[in-house]
This record gives sequence, structure tokens and C-alpha cells, in this order.
Amino acid sequence: MDVILFGPPGAGKGTQAKRLISQLSVPQISTGDMMRAERASGTDLGKRFESFMSAGKLVPDALVLELVEQRLKAEDAEAGAIFDGYPRTIPQAEALDSMLDRLERKIDVVVSMEISLAEQIDRITGRRTCVGCGHIYHVRYSPPPSEGRCANCGGELSQRKDDLEEVVRKRHEEYLANTAPLLGYYGAKGLVVTVNAVGSLDDVTARIRDAVAR
Ligand code: AMP
Repeated sequence: MDVILFGPPGAGKGTQAKRLISQLSVPQISTGDMMRAERASGTDLGKRFESFMSAGKLVPDALVLELVEQRLKAEDAEAGAIFDGYPRTIPQAEALDSMLDRLERKIDVVVSMEISLAEQIDRITGRRTCVGCGHIYHVRYSPPPSEGRCANCGGELSQRKDDLEEVVRKRHEEYLANTAPLLGYYGAKGLVVTVNAVGSLDDVTARIRDAVAR
């Protein structure tokens, strides 16, 4: 099964994708996580992502496609994937359709997670991520039991550089200009199911599960 978790920054795509992995038995493919990993390893590709990401701009399509194409070839993605933060432009969506077509697959459902801008900013500026295992916390809504340390692996918690309010506003503008039009693209194919992304983690997971099972 191939599912897209769609929505603006801070909708909870990454958090919910991780919760769905075991239920759908397919991996999460997060281009943002993959780019941050490249950046952290200091690869040439990672260095090329840096300037776009820290300014809240989208990374050019050609660089993104290379990453996704490689990832889709991995054995664990043979039966499908949960796409999170990808596609983000119409050309990326067209490229994904072609890649899946070559694998005799197609997108089954696009879950559109709805949330207001005020809620996005509140969530994103309070977000802290474990550098060890990637677990996501929020300083108020899901704080770690011991301050500054991950409950799963003891790793250090850090704030993403692009999670500062001014960068979040830029990311939101990019979302409206380039990514929101994808709802029309997938809507025309009858693939979009809308869910309210505000509520407890369990409630939102249940809504997404229902949307996927429809
Ligand atoms: P995310 O972790 O999904 O919020 O992405 C963080 C940043 O990585 C974005 O603001 C972009 O700079 C970059 N990025 C992630 N995924 C994509 C994508 N599919 N297309 C272009 N840029 C991306």
C-alpha cells in the first residue's frame, strides 16, 4: 500500500507516519529526514541541501528525486510506503507517479491533515527531536520525562534549525505556493481524504487509520 500523508509543516505527518509503520507494514519515506541525515553526515549532497533548508525554501526537484528513487529501490519498500513530506510540488508528484508506475504500483490514498497556522507555529516552535532515534517531543504537549534527554534511547534532544518562527512562516508560504496545489492534482484522481489533525495523538492516528481503510 502506498499512502501520502499530506499537510502543512507541523500537521504531524512525521509523528503519525511513525505510528502507522507497524499497522501498514510499510516503511516511512520522509525526504526531510533523509536530507537531515545527509546533512549530518556532511556529504556533498547534504551540503547542497543546507542553504535551502535553513532558509525554509524547498530543495530543487532534481535533487529530491534522486533521493526518493534510491529509497524506493530498497527491499523494505517493495510492498509500499508512507510518504511524509513528499511530494511537495506538482513535478515531484508526476515523478512519483512514474516511479510507482514502473514498479506496477500507484498511490492508494492521500490523507490530507488539516490544521490552522496558529496551531502549526505553536507545535513547531515547541518541537524537540532526539538526535539518537528521531523520536519527536513537544516541550508542553509531550515532554520527555527527564529534561533534555530522550526516554527511548537517552539521546540528546535538539531543536531543528528551521523550526524557528520566522523560518516556519517562510515554510508555510512555500507550502501555500507550491505544495497546496497538489490537493487539486490528487483530488482530480479521487484520492484525497481529509482528516482533522488537531486532537490527541491517538485520536488523530485513529482518524488516519479510518481514512486509509476506507
Ligand atoms: P520536513 O522535515 O518535511 O519539514 O522538511 C524540512 C525541509 O527539507 C523543507 O523545508 C525543505 O527545505 C526540505 N524538503 C523536505 N522534503 C522536501 C521535498 N519533498 N521537496 C523539497 N524540499 C524538501
